[in-house]
Parts: sequence; structure tokens; C-alpha cells
Amino acid sequence: MPLTIHQFPCLSDNYGFLIRDEATGQTACIDTPEASAILRELEDLGWDLDFIFNTHWHPDHAGGNADIKAITGCTIVGPKEVTRIAPLDREVGHGDIVELGETAFQVFDTGGHTLGHITYFDAADRIAFVGDTLFALGCGRLFEGTPEQMWDSLQRLAALPEDTTVYCAHEYTASNARFALSVDDAPALKARAEQIFAARERGEWTVPTTIGLEKATNPFLRAPALAARVGASGKPDAQAFAAVRAAKDNFRG
Ligand code: ZN
Ligand code: FE
Repeated sequence: MPLTIHQFPCLSDNYGFLIRDEATGQTACIDTPEASAILRELEDLGWDLDFIFNTHWHPDHAGGNADIKAITGCTIVGPKEVTRIAPLDREVGHGDIVELGETAFQVFDTGGHTLGHITYFDAADRIAFVGDTLFALGCGRLFEGTPEQMWDSLQRLAALPEDTTVYCAHEYTASNARFALSVDDAPALKARAEQIFAARERGEWTVPTTIGLEKATNPFLRAPALAARVGASGKPDAQAFAAVRAAKDNFRG
């Protein structure tokens, strides 16, 4: 594979990702949850950082930008909203292409968690960095956007090839699984939840996931099928999604 991905834990439940285009050696960091951890990993790998690619402005995604740029001199790429907390070198939005050596990432608008949230998709390798839009068995909270906006964003991701590898920014999967089981009794979900609980017992990561797995088991992508169970029967899909999201916001499991 021409893209090497190095994943590591940051803060309490974030993942950091360092990626390298093997053809050229160009290297990027997806978000900057924790500057010290990212700089240490770069040193261990012996990689020089060329870029930061931000997904959204939240401090656990862009808070390390300034410190990492000061030390590496990297170029910072991201959606305009990141300038709320740190300067950008290149502002990108839906339809733009971001190149890392010979690897090309398509930028998708996936707003909802924040208004300007974006996703980076490498179509050749079928790899997506989705930040806090889609999680394994979950999705981001609607801090800024509407249910309609988030539903559209999730549909954009659901339309990607089923074997797309999805790198989400947090390890929330076990608690997401407990909620999912409270609204859905699909056999595929039950089987996956068992695997997730066992993996977390062993201290293993449940990220990355795939689009196919999420379409089969994620209650937010399955919202239309769950509408009656969450009290949104007969309403449009975005309303079913809104009902599942509200149920999760109130879930104490
Ligand atoms: Zn966030
Ligand atoms: Fe986050």
C-alpha cells in the first residue's frame, strides 16, 4: 500500500494518526490532539512532518497545531473554522483535493458535529479520516449543526465503497455499543458488540472500522430502520436520525 498509517492513543480517548506517502516520503498528521505525543511518535519513526490536515476546530483536533508547526515548520491545511483557534496556511472545503506526495485526498463537507467539519478521503486506497463525524457504532454530537446537516454528512460517508477503511478520532466504541444494543437487536449488532466488549477487555483498539460494517450495525446509519423503536415512526429519515441522536444524548448506560 502506498500510504503507511501510524495510529497511537492521545489524551484520554483520542487517536493520533501520522501518515506517509511511501512514494515520496511526504508525511502528514491528521489533527493535533496532543503535540507532545505527536512529536515523540515522529521522532521514534524518524519521519519529518510536512503537513497537518485538520478535520475541525475543536481543541482536541487542532489544539496542537501551533506547537507542532513551531517545531517542524509544517504546512497547516484545514477548514476555515480552524482559524477560531490557530492560523491556517491553506483553507480547504468540499470538492478540494489535498495532495500528500502521490496520494490524493478528496475533501468532503461533513458538517454537523461542527459547522465546518471536513473528511479526507483517499479514493485510490479507500481510506477515510472522518474526525468526529462517524464513530465505530456512533456519530459525533451535534454541537453546532442540525440533524438534517449531520444526516446528509453521514449519507455522504455511507455512499463510499463498503471496504473503505474509516479512521475515527476517538475510542468510544464500547459505550457506543451499549447504547446501540438499547435501540437495536439486529443479530449483526449483537455479534459485533460481543467482539467489541472482548477486544476492549484485552485493551485492544476498535478503530479503524469500515463503511460496510457501520452500515450494517451503526444505529445512526440504521436510523430509518429503527424509527419506530425511537418514536419517530413515519417521519423523514433525518427525523429518525434526530430521534436516535437525542436518545443517545440522554442515554445513561
Ligand atoms: Zn470534536
Ligand atoms: Fe474530538
